[in-house]
Amino acid sequence: MDIKANLEQVKKTFKNPDCLLVAVSKTKPLEDLKAAYACGIRDFGENKVQEIQAKQPEMPADTRWHMIGHLQSNKVKYIAPFVHLIHGVDSFKLLKEINKQGKKIDRIIPVLLQIHIAEEESKFGFDEAEVLEMLGNEDFKALTHVSIQGLMGMATFTENETQIRKEFKGLKALFENLKSKDLPAFVQLKELSMGMSGDYLIAQEEGSTMVRIGSAIFGSRN
Ligand SMILES: *Cc1c(COP(=O)(O)O)cnc(C)c1O
Repeated sequence: MDIKANLEQVKKTFKNPDCLLVAVSKTKPLEDLKAAYACGIRDFGENKVQEIQAKQPEMPADTRWHMIGHLQSNKVKYIAPFVHLIHGVDSFKLLKEINKQGKKIDRIIPVLLQIHIAEEESKFGFDEAEVLEMLGNEDFKALTHVSIQGLMGMATFTENETQIRKEFKGLKALFENLKSKDLPAFVQLKELSMGMSGDYLIAQEEGSTMVRIGSAIFGSRN
């Protein structure tokens, strides 16, 4: 697998050069992460707490760790000290736990709210009404150790570009709608994490600021 060539190829196709590339290295060995690091990549995405914990001490200190998968509340404490951004916050319960762990170590932890935009039932995330309800909740407004930087979403796994585009457009519309509201200071909606190997070009056309790309860089996973 020529990681350098893959990275160059992916970057070359970007519709927006300012969009952040998060290299999704889940299941991949350290040597692959180091090869990407040598090409200038600093942002890595992992979806398992155990794996992120094992890899983190082995990589240079300026590596930025993105937790992109479903995160269980009881595991937040293991990544709280170093995680750069938690993309998959999908419940108020999880958000409160992140806040609690941040408070313990005196760190404000950056997160994204995951919004359910796909057709599949199985995908995690808030729907629009749930997010609006949470933002208006007094307990939510009292959070002190999280920084909500934006939204994350995953489109339906399909070849149908029209559908993927529609789902990304919906997420972008919600993002703009939320931004226009009167929000607490710890909610600064700047980032829209959408797009993976199969749909990052559509995502960038629809306003993504951050794409999470795995197999197009590191090859397919087992
Ligand atoms: C695995 C994963 C990705 C990357 O998927 P590829 O199709 O390999 O690019 C992106 N986002 C999330 C949440 C993932 O779990």
